[in-house]
Amino acid sequence: MKQVQIEELKNKLIEEKERLEKELSSFAEKNPKVKGDWTAKFPSFGDHKSEQDENADEVEEYIAEVSEEHILELRLKDVDEALEKIGTDAYGKCSECSEEIPFARLQANPEAKTCIEHAK
Ligand SMILES: [Zn+2]
Repeated sequence: MKQVQIEELKNKLIEEKERLEKELSSFAEKNPKVKGDWTAKFPSFGDHKSEQDENADEVEEYIAEVSEEHILELRLKDVDEALEKIGTDAYGKCSECSEEIPFARLQANPEAKTCIEHAK
């Protein structure tokens, strides 16, 4: 991979990391003790007729946020790992077959860990 290609992917990864952290911080809190760990905040709507309604809606919203938080957290972890590896031989190789991942795939998905064939 050429230096200019590495720079391009690195910039994409940094942008993606910022985007994910911004999205996470809109409804979750960063755990200051554990790197890469986020916790969804419990929502409080406060505009319901009865206490019971409110609790049910909040719990539903919270469950949705927890699963969303989990997806974003995993993606952020992949981006962080790719940022650590980029510029080294370990970056851009399939974790299953060690083949080089095509640049076009990395452009679309710079945190990809596998070739197209081995993508889940
Ligand atoms: Zn592969």
